[in-house]
Amino acid sequence: MKKIISIISLLCMTHMLAMQQEKMDYLLQVAAEERAKIESPAFVYKSTSVYKCDYPGCNKSYSLEGSLEEHRLTHRPKNTPCDVCGKLFIHGDSVRQHKRLMHADIVKK
Ligand SMILES: [Zn+2]
Ligand SMILES: [Zn+2]
Repeated sequence: MKKIISIISLLCMTHMLAMQQEKMDYLLQVAAEERAKIESPAFVYKSTSVYKCDYPGCNKSYSLEGSLEEHRLTHRPKNTPCDVCGKLFIHGDSVRQHKRLMHADIVKK
């Protein structure tokens, strides 16, 4: 009789452990699902980064269109030369800024 009781309690303990394990598995699964949701591109798209750079090999994304435009300039070849020293710049604004800084005496005010 004693032996049976100990077997039953052992079974109960095994059952309890199994239940706990199941619970843990479930919690781990939920956590993994939540993480997958956060890491999925769709979630990123919805939350902040809407404007994505389409340059090959670049996967930067920005929440503001202006930021993306600005970033995309870095992919453009520098092809605007300074007409004073010939240094190449990405766009006209950079040249103007450069001229104001480096050739202040030449640039008309
Ligand atoms: Zn880019
Ligand atoms: Zn220059």
